[in-house]
Amino acid sequence: MPAKTMDELISLCKRRGFIFQSSEIYGGIQGAYDYGPLGIELKNNLKAAWWRAMVYERDDIEGLDTAIIQNRHVYKYSGHEDTFTDPMVDCHNCKSRMRADHMKNIKICNNCSSTNVTAPRNFNLMFKTNIGPIVNEESYTYLRPETSQSIFTNFKNVLDSTSRTLPFGIAQIGKSFRNEITPRNFIFRVREFEQMELEFFCKPGEDEEWHNTWVKLRKQWWLDQGLAEENIQFEYVTGDNLAHYSKATVDILYKFPHGFEELEGVANRADYDLGSHTKAQNEFGLSEKVKRNEHSTTKLAIFDLDEKKWKVPFCIEPSAGLDRGLLAVMTEAYTEEEISNGTTRTVLKFKPHLAPIKVAIMPLKKNKPEIVSLAKKLKNKLQQLSLGRILYENTDNLGKGYRRYDEIGTPICVTVDFDSIEKESAPVTVRDRDTMQQVAIPSADLPSYVANYFINRN
Ligand code: ATP
Repeated sequence: MPAKTMDELISLCKRRGFIFQSSEIYGGIQGAYDYGPLGIELKNNLKAAWWRAMVYERDDIEGLDTAIIQNRHVYKYSGHEDTFTDPMVDCHNCKSRMRADHMKNIKICNNCSSTNVTAPRNFNLMFKTNIGPIVNEESYTYLRPETSQSIFTNFKNVLDSTSRTLPFGIAQIGKSFRNEITPRNFIFRVREFEQMELEFFCKPGEDEEWHNTWVKLRKQWWLDQGLAEENIQFEYVTGDNLAHYSKATVDILYKFPHGFEELEGVANRADYDLGSHTKAQNEFGLSEKVKRNEHSTTKLAIFDLDEKKWKVPFCIEPSAGLDRGLLAVMTEAYTEEEISNGTTRTVLKFKPHLAPIKVAIMPLKKNKPEIVSLAKKLKNKLQQLSLGRILYENTDNLGKGYRRYDEIGTPICVTVDFDSIEKESAPVTVRDRDTMQQVAIPSADLPSYVANYFINRN
């Protein structure tokens, strides 16, 4: 059963070291969070699953990792300088500030119901920053509000260095920054976050089919991360809600603790972005209306062998939030179940490939050198399997250990006891997180048992 409230999740995240409020000792900062020892493992696992599905398991996508700070012309021609705004309303009565499109009635304050509110004003969400020691009107740029723009500006570099033909894609994972008017709902809406974005380039005319394909593929990927079908919905974005670059957008929504909200957007960006950043725009008969580019030095086009001419491809963009993904995966995994004698346990039922700690190894007696030594040896052997983090823990209280590992979603706990040290064929006890069943496995067979467990469940 998914988490009942956001507060339960926030409390677990802090208690067990998944996520902390940023700058907490100074009272925190709104819209920024720090990932703790388990949060970083979960984040890395989710990123690795995305990269594997996008880059390694396909043969038509290349990876990229670009700078967060780019020349400000990137944002001039992408349209962000002019249009990356949210409408903001201030309440004169309670001094709160809100997004007009999040208000039930734009004439009444969401917070105190006063009608003494300002008319909506556009507020640009990009963070401005200065480059170099001289601060003047020439020296500024922005922190990127999305990772995709530098994929477009590198289009020719990737094309030339890989000899790609259409269709093909470029994938990137990285930080983005938005000066959100009202950051809220924990890591759902923050000012610094990570995105996992793919720009998939195809021939004009094939774009609608690719758009549909990517919507389906992306939904399946979220299901593969453990999200339940009934907690996912599509929203077909229309009219004024469509972004300036978009020919069509389908948002993938997830049932977060605060309701169904966007987890990922899959947009058909047509030729807007490459068309905006290319040199010699007039040569290409662009379908989208773009700002006239006076600075680009490069043609961002590909030679069409059928039509024998250079063309600007269309682009489909599945853009997922890593932090929102992590919140969705945690919401789904959070389970409270009744176990024997009326007690309840909290379990994070992560898919094994996402679990922050794959296996915990505990010696039954922490001051018995032979047991400790075998437990450490097994930890090292399992670590060599490269499955992720394997933890050796010197505890005297197995019951408490099991509860703690349930609560952080560790699929397997291994206990080494007096019998285990007799000989290599002697058993260790392996406990399964979900069934709580325990089986005895010869210690020499533990690596293959664990490897099979993770291969079969991924
Ligand atoms: P929203 O409507 O919720 O503000 P958006 O439509 O502006 O989101 P996109 O520009 O499509 O978002 O960004 C792609 C993805 O990046 C989103 O689906 C979301 O997962 C993530 N994202 C965007 N803004 C934020 C944010 N402020 N905090 C966390 N994740 C974000």
